[in-house]
Amino acid sequence: MVSRPIPSIPSSTRPLGNAWHTLTSQQAMSPLESDPNGLTDDKARHRQDRYGLNELKEGTVRSPWVILWDQFKNIMLLMLIAVAIVSLILDLQEGGFPKDAIAIFAIVLLNGILGYFQESRAEKALAALKNMTSPRVRVVRSGREQEQDAKDLVPGDVVLLEAGVQVPADGRLLNASNLQIREAALTGESEAIIKRPEVTLPDEASLGDRVNLVYQGTEVLQGRGTVLVTQTGMQTELGRIATLIQSVETEPTPLQQRMGQLGNVLVSGSLVLVALVVVIGLLRSGDLSLFDELLEVSLSMAVAVVPEGLPAVITVTLALGTQRMVRRHALIRKLPAVETLGSVTTICSDKTGTLTQNKMVVQQVQTFDTQYQITGEGYSPIGRILENDQAVKVEECPALEALLIASVFCNDANLNHEGSLWTILGDPTEGALLALAGKGGFDQSRLKKSSNRVAEIPFTSERKRMSVVIQACAAELLSLMPESPMMFMKGSPELVLDQCSFVQKESEVEPLTADIKQGVLAANNRMAAQGLRVLGFAMKPLEASSTENLETEEQNLIWLGLVGMLDAPRPEVRTAVAACRRAGIRPVMITGDHQLTAQVIAESLGIAQPGNAVLTGYDLTQLSTAELERTVPNVSVYARVAPEHKLRIVQALQKRGEFVAMTGDGVNDAPALKQADIGIAMGVTGTDVSKEASDMVLLDDNFATIVAATEEGRVVYDNIRRFIKYILGSNIGEVLTIAAAPLLGLGGVPLTPLQILWMNLVTDGFPALALAMEPAEPNVMQRPPHNPKESIFARGLGAYMLRVGLLLAILTIGLMAWAYRHTHAATYSGDPDTWKTMVFTTLCLAQMGHALAVRSDTQLTLQLSPFSNLYVWGAVLLTTGLQVLLIYVPIFQQFFGLYALSAIELAICFGFSSLVFVWLEAEKLFIRQAMKRAQSK
Ligand code: ATP
Repeated sequence: MVSRPIPSIPSSTRPLGNAWHTLTSQQAMSPLESDPNGLTDDKARHRQDRYGLNELKEGTVRSPWVILWDQFKNIMLLMLIAVAIVSLILDLQEGGFPKDAIAIFAIVLLNGILGYFQESRAEKALAALKNMTSPRVRVVRSGREQEQDAKDLVPGDVVLLEAGVQVPADGRLLNASNLQIREAALTGESEAIIKRPEVTLPDEASLGDRVNLVYQGTEVLQGRGTVLVTQTGMQTELGRIATLIQSVETEPTPLQQRMGQLGNVLVSGSLVLVALVVVIGLLRSGDLSLFDELLEVSLSMAVAVVPEGLPAVITVTLALGTQRMVRRHALIRKLPAVETLGSVTTICSDKTGTLTQNKMVVQQVQTFDTQYQITGEGYSPIGRILENDQAVKVEECPALEALLIASVFCNDANLNHEGSLWTILGDPTEGALLALAGKGGFDQSRLKKSSNRVAEIPFTSERKRMSVVIQACAAELLSLMPESPMMFMKGSPELVLDQCSFVQKESEVEPLTADIKQGVLAANNRMAAQGLRVLGFAMKPLEASSTENLETEEQNLIWLGLVGMLDAPRPEVRTAVAACRRAGIRPVMITGDHQLTAQVIAESLGIAQPGNAVLTGYDLTQLSTAELERTVPNVSVYARVAPEHKLRIVQALQKRGEFVAMTGDGVNDAPALKQADIGIAMGVTGTDVSKEASDMVLLDDNFATIVAATEEGRVVYDNIRRFIKYILGSNIGEVLTIAAAPLLGLGGVPLTPLQILWMNLVTDGFPALALAMEPAEPNVMQRPPHNPKESIFARGLGAYMLRVGLLLAILTIGLMAWAYRHTHAATYSGDPDTWKTMVFTTLCLAQMGHALAVRSDTQLTLQLSPFSNLYVWGAVLLTTGLQVLLIYVPIFQQFFGLYALSAIELAICFGFSSLVFVWLEAEKLFIRQAMKRAQSK
């Protein structure tokens, strides 16, 4: 066997070689100057200076040029470019300065550049958000286990892997227990690879065959292992192909897609309209010399129909939405979630940690014949074990003693303290067991030092139990544990009991009769009915040789007893559940815990009422898909479910037309998270795999945060609809006004492309942006969710746009007819084209009133506090001011082709435009009256 030499760290600055699979785990230690106790903090710091952070430099998949080019692929911009070219030709023919063409080109360019910056910023922002969920890893440094950011790992670190984590760096396995890793990220192979630390491999073994190595970015599906980090950052296998991965997801949201489609409709519609105006105009006059004028009219209409400002406003609104959500602890991973969150009709939530605090405290222990009460708070191992209010001596209670020993050995958590504050590293359930053992005088580190864990089957949500085999290696332990090796098991009481044939009575072991079993189950139910999370414990002496095939040994165990721990509901969840109900959203609890525990907690939170049906995982397996679909509307609590049941529940709910948000934290929750309309992962306790599969991550694991995010989603969607109404209504008004001029026989185009661009981008753009900041309407969480598949024009939006467009057009055309006659009267002293300036000004100002009125569908503007959205008032004042500047400052006048209006003319423009505001407010009063009448009937 030929092995490539592996340079030792001190003598070389070259990146480490990649032949680690040819070495035993022992051999791999020496070039890295590490040992099972890990590096010292000092050493790790030095290495970080040398090797840098364990990060992948993200290769953007699209180069900046491609992003820029993509901006110009938009059909509306292409139409504007065509308009600019025609307008350029017309101006050059007439020998005029091609102002409009230049302005349009400038706008197209500006739009492209703005789009480019927005898109790159959005990518950066999403990447930054992604970093917020950057994984934490369990590392051994100076012999102590600690948690730290994966980016701080260095070669030589010793890292602990468990199911659900993403491997944080490349490494050589030191040990493993049933470790199964999916390496699809690297090799494309989706089957799990079983890892084997004990082998050494020939140099030529391919990446996928190196079963003694692990690679960054791959996913631990099952089991546990300890890894010596060999390569970090860009030196890892994944680093080599870094440009292919971690691309930030910036797929267009459904709304953005629909807006793209709308662009197509607008462009084709405007082309038809242009053709109509030209043909009708020519047919009516029969004068071909009018062609140029009609073409100009058509160009203006084409510019007017395109909502140039809309894409930017939508992007900004979605971005603001994600920021507001992150402030409320909900991190959006996929942009579509922002707008679809508001449509959620059912929230399926885990219990532990999301509805409850995930701070476990053991309250009761029940052995065969004795019930113990436990005192003490939090994870502190200081407290007492009482029997009938008297402190017990653990050494005099063999069943209790064995149960406490089992709770230390069958445990992967660590208890730490700073002063009097006790914290845990690992699963809170296991932390609570360590605290319990501490109260009985069993110190975790002492017990672990005098023993070896020779085999184990880790806990999974499917098996709902964990087994370990412990070999005593110190005489002291043999006095506590009469035989060695010994199997310890803990897990869901019913399942553990099923594996038992004996029971530990006070000092002897007796067969487990059916009566005793009934007694244990009754005690389990009694504890669960108090809302306690209950675990069962068992043990079994093993033949030394029988540790090989552990699953077959999981039978004929000795039952030790039950432990009941309290995991109090989160105080804010009750209010959040009530808010959900008012908002027409049904909260559903899906838990791996016992049905009685689940029911008590669900009732205390208002998720279920006494007497409501609880469906268990077993019940689920008995139901066909059709039966399940019929059942799901009536069930709010699912208990003892496994992750695969979650998938069936989501699918059944979706079949019933529900729009489902579903939480999950484990590896096996990923399919359900992907299937759900909004998959929600836990930021604190969630596995990396579940986060990858999710649309949103809860930074605080809290159910109330889902409700808050839903509210924000509704606000975002309402605001998007609000400014779409506002912007497109104005476009319709502009188009109709322009089309009316030649049909009324007025000479010339009332609005030039330049003026229209000004309106669409500035006088409509600023107020539209301000409307995106509109706070939640008071009833936002008091109405049922909207159908996510509804068209953006649903619920009257399309009709409103047409109505307002017509209103704007009728008023402006009325003014146009009057102004035309006024400025063509013999007595008129100004320029006869002043009527165009009046039309332009009236349309702009009318939109100011519209911006104020569109803030609420139901409330009058006077009823809304101006302070609730000062931006709108600011935008209205600013744009009105800018419009006045345009009319009176000579340089702008010339550029935009305007004429100064007299005070009376300006007042008339204000008068006509304010009618839009008056009309819209009157409409609200009318609708209110109509609704009142309908209600009283
Ligand atoms: P949820 O699904 O709401 O988070 P859960 O945490 O109770 O609820 P699981 O983690 O799947 O769901 O646990 C299911 C059952 O498995 C628990 O009720 C408990 O009896 C048992 N259990 C939980 N954690 C462990 C563990 N670390 N070791 C052994 N058994 C456990």
